[in-house]
Amino acid sequence: MKTPIVEIDGDEMTRVLWAVIKEKLLLPFIDLKTEYYDLGLTNRDNTNDEVTVKSAQAIIKYGVGVKCATITSNAARQKEYNLKNLLPSPNATIRAILDGTVFRKPIQISRVKPSVNTWKAPIVIGRHAYGDVYKAAEMEIDGPGKVELVYTKIDGTVRRIKLADFEVYTSGVVQGMHNYDESIKSFARACFLYAIAEKIPLWFATKDTISKIYDGRFKTIFNEIYETEFKEKCAAAGVQYYYTLIDDAVARVVKGEGGFLWACKNYDGDVQSDMIASATGSLAMMTSVLVSPAGVFEYEAAHGTVQQHYYRWQKGEKTSTNPTALIFAWTGALAKRAELDNLDDLGQFAKQLEKATLDTIENGIMTGDLAKLSDPLPEKTLNSWDFIDMVAEQMKK
Ligand code: NAP
Ligand code: MG
Repeated sequence: MKTPIVEIDGDEMTRVLWAVIKEKLLLPFIDLKTEYYDLGLTNRDNTNDEVTVKSAQAIIKYGVGVKCATITSNAARQKEYNLKNLLPSPNATIRAILDGTVFRKPIQISRVKPSVNTWKAPIVIGRHAYGDVYKAAEMEIDGPGKVELVYTKIDGTVRRIKLADFEVYTSGVVQGMHNYDESIKSFARACFLYAIAEKIPLWFATKDTISKIYDGRFKTIFNEIYETEFKEKCAAAGVQYYYTLIDDAVARVVKGEGGFLWACKNYDGDVQSDMIASATGSLAMMTSVLVSPAGVFEYEAAHGTVQQHYYRWQKGEKTSTNPTALIFAWTGALAKRAELDNLDDLGQFAKQLEKATLDTIENGIMTGDLAKLSDPLPEKTLNSWDFIDMVAEQMKK
């Protein structure tokens, strides 16, 4: 390797497996160069979350990052980890700094059929990774009054609009959200580029009938970017662009054959990618990459820290947690590094590691989450450590 990959460590079961993957599947085979950032909850708390910001800046500097799952703190976690502060979601912080779009694609295997039996090809989710509810301002209302949105322009002009009266009912909650045209344009461009590269149709859906200005802007910008920048390229690649309402899209997705990119606003993408992941098989069979408009890439697993498995591991159990998405986060990052630095051997290695992982599963050797779904029944259901050893064996072959 010439340039390091930004390595972002995380929490709980995924942190445990992260180290095993490096030891058994990476270090014996490649001269791995990384710049390491510890985003474990304790270190984020100790550094007042500065480490999270630094890791995102490092991704901008080097171009490629790989991230382990991390705990998003809440009151329970604050108590559990004795935290000074409640910290924001590290993913939200990193995504806000990098901007961009998260593409999530199921890793399909022949032994696990999607629960939606009409699906023939993977449904890729393109999730806008900036703004909306993830960058919202929220307030609790605890007495009579009114709430307004106020826009103070630099020239001193002021526009205000009523959000709600708290007169009859005098307590509740309010929220203000935003997005930027530039971010929405990058989101649209990233989705068209992905669809053209993969030669799959692009669907985009919002709720513009209800949110005429906010969601309406997303619809208009997608349409403008299509008309002015991608119409001909889409036609040349045989890629169709299709806009519909989000509820109509959900209904069509469940009746359809799959095989398209579904561009989703931030919250829709958060929810729908979990639906797609679990309907395709397991949360651990999903790749995830954040593509920023600056041309930098962050690879991660789509699942969380697998908290319940971690507590069992702490009690001495060798859990059967599926490491596939974590392995694919590494292979995605290594393959991108190889592409950017013209390292053919490294690119080959990334492909072989993916193949070794999938071949092991197709040969009937898998973790418990897949064993429950496998048809035919698995030959062997292994704990994570033994599974990773089998993948290493397959690599050596
Ligand atoms: P989760 O860690 O994804 O786990 C939810 C359930 O999905 C698990 O209990 C397990 O089911 C199954 N699962 C997920 N990954 C698996 C794997 N690799 N192998 C086998 N089964 C797997 O979600 P969560 O429990 O909601 O969240 C736990 C923590 O993760 C939270 O603190 C949250 O903040 C954080 N989180 C982080 C990220 C991220 O950093 N990208 C994303 C989401 C959540 P069974 O228990 O039935 O086996
Ligand atoms: Mg989610």
